[in-house]
Amino acid sequence: MLTLKEAEFLEEWKERRIIEMLTLENTVFLKKEVSADVRCSDGRQSYEYIEEHWHANPQNDHNGWYGGPAVFAKSYKGYNEIGAILRVENLVEGITARGINSLILWWHLPCGMLTSYRHKPEEIITLAVEAEIFLRSRMKDVEIHQCLNIRRESKKAGVHQSHRIFCFNPWAGIKNSFSNVGLLEQSNGTY
Ligand SMILES: [Zn+2]
Repeated sequence: MLTLKEAEFLEEWKERRIIEMLTLENTVFLKKEVSADVRCSDGRQSYEYIEEHWHANPQNDHNGWYGGPAVFAKSYKGYNEIGAILRVENLVEGITARGINSLILWWHLPCGMLTSYRHKPEEIITLAVEAEIFLRSRMKDVEIHQCLNIRRESKKAGVHQSHRIFCFNPWAGIKNSFSNVGLLEQSNGTY
């Protein structure tokens, strides 16, 4: 459950365009006939929601494991280089065999794995940029899209969960940050 303070920074992220509400225009990639995704195993409910409400193609190829795309981020505290390389090699093989050129990275908050490694929720921005850099360097002709699901719980009337799903542009979160200049350099000025 997100605390009040965390909910406040999400408002700030909207203002900075790090997250954007889904619209018909910015969800075109969800409806592609064939695409693949990377998702965290403990965030399953959000995918059902997006398939139902945003008509995402349920036939997409799913790649799920604990931590989801975070396993490709070097500052993820559970990062394991051999594990990341094995996973990306499998992804590249699979999407090449299937003729897929669109990959969706699904993030979610709160995430059991990020919490267990004591990552602060806002660190997801750096993790998402690092994961994208890692994947882009190994799959040049594949579009990469990112989404973020935020789950809020309210105990006012029993336990009620609500999902909010956003287009996630973590690059907007590091552009003006001096400490992240290295990440921008790694992106070769693409962003
Ligand atoms: Zn998770």
